[in-house]
Amino acid sequence: MDEFKLRFVPLGGVVGVTKNMYVYELYKGGKLEDILIVDCGIGFPDIDNENINYVIPDISYLKDKVSKIRAILLSHGHEDHTMALPYYYKDLGEPPVYTGKLTTAFVKNDFKEFGIPIKINEVDVNKTYTFGNFKADFIRMTHSIPDTLHLFIKTPIGNIYHGTDFKLDLTPPYGSPPDFHAISKLSSEGVLCLFSDCLGAETPGLTLSESAIGESFENEIKNTPGKFIMTTFSSNISRIRQCIESSVKYQRKIVFLGRSMRENTNIAREIGYLPFKNNLFVDDRTLRKTPPNKLTFIVAGSQGQINSALTKLATDQNVNIKIGKGDKVVFSSDPIPGNEAEVYKLIEKLMIKGADVVYPDIKERLHASGHGNQEDLKLLMRLVKSNFLIPIGGTIRHQRQYMKLAKQLGYKEHNVFLLNEGDSVWIDKSRMLLGEKIKTKTIYVSNEGTISDKIALK
Ligand SMILES: [Zn+2]
Repeated sequence: MDEFKLRFVPLGGVVGVTKNMYVYELYKGGKLEDILIVDCGIGFPDIDNENINYVIPDISYLKDKVSKIRAILLSHGHEDHTMALPYYYKDLGEPPVYTGKLTTAFVKNDFKEFGIPIKINEVDVNKTYTFGNFKADFIRMTHSIPDTLHLFIKTPIGNIYHGTDFKLDLTPPYGSPPDFHAISKLSSEGVLCLFSDCLGAETPGLTLSESAIGESFENEIKNTPGKFIMTTFSSNISRIRQCIESSVKYQRKIVFLGRSMRENTNIAREIGYLPFKNNLFVDDRTLRKTPPNKLTFIVAGSQGQINSALTKLATDQNVNIKIGKGDKVVFSSDPIPGNEAEVYKLIEKLMIKGADVVYPDIKERLHASGHGNQEDLKLLMRLVKSNFLIPIGGTIRHQRQYMKLAKQLGYKEHNVFLLNEGDSVWIDKSRMLLGEKIKTKTIYVSNEGTISDKIALK
């Protein structure tokens, strides 16, 4: 009988945190039968060039294998897991895409902007899907965006648990907690390898629940005499909803500022994820009629981005809204590593304007990470009980730390694989072996949207 073999090829998302794209290949008798792709996201360049918008995975490796791609599964709606898809959908042979409800809405919107159609299916977590010789179950998980899913991939040689970005939030403010029952039930069939988020592997304990933030918003709003301004990631719909609910208690109207914030909250409202009456939301024109202490601004730009709505507020570039004494600005986010200088500059600019600025360094519970800490990561290892482990979505630092956690649970070093981009791993019933290296280039996307492996100097 021809033996099946499974190969895993990460085209992004290992060593770097972003640009997630993972390829699973099934071979029978040495011949490639089926390919399943998980995620297809953007990343950020490690060079400073104002012509470059972002980077995307290099898919040249897949060029002569397109006919074998059975489906693309998207774990959640963050840009570093989805936003490269419109660039490559045609090249990948337009396979069907499967994902959760909010992700479907976000991705449809991205494709609309590109003016191209997409075959996208909202999944049912109670169903098992078949993609060639692969089968997959989708498991409800928690993260910093609703409708995050983990994937349980069944292959003729054994099962894979694909656990991208997650934290184990036992009390999410909306939506379901992680489906522990499904994780242990599916895993009881045996798991060859757990691919796990490892970004929180340096931080002890369990991750703070998203619910804790709602209470903080209320405390901050209560004693704000002027405008209340909250900034966070515009995809964090649960965070935004908690801020709106706290504002409603103090009779404040809501203003969204920034393109991504407006767009994402519009989509969330369309699918019922921000269930508030239309008259709660105020736009720039009707703003002047509402007193400052009856206004909450939910603003994009928590990373200090130069053209963001928050930077415009801080530098008087917004003609309708002035920041001053009595106003409060809450940063419900941590700076992404590398952005610290810009974020602190922005905080200082807002302070100089006279605003009271609070941020996670000086006050607890203003932000909860979307990534599991050490105990979250270990708990998933315990539940899945896989033979092998591969940390994904982290840098070498996080991978090494993940290895230490695995050892605490009795894993041997040779059962944990720390991968680089383009490394491939062969998996059969009893062992895993590093395969040949896949050559990948850095692919840049310019501000005009053109793709190139060379940097345009304009
Ligand atoms: Zn994410």
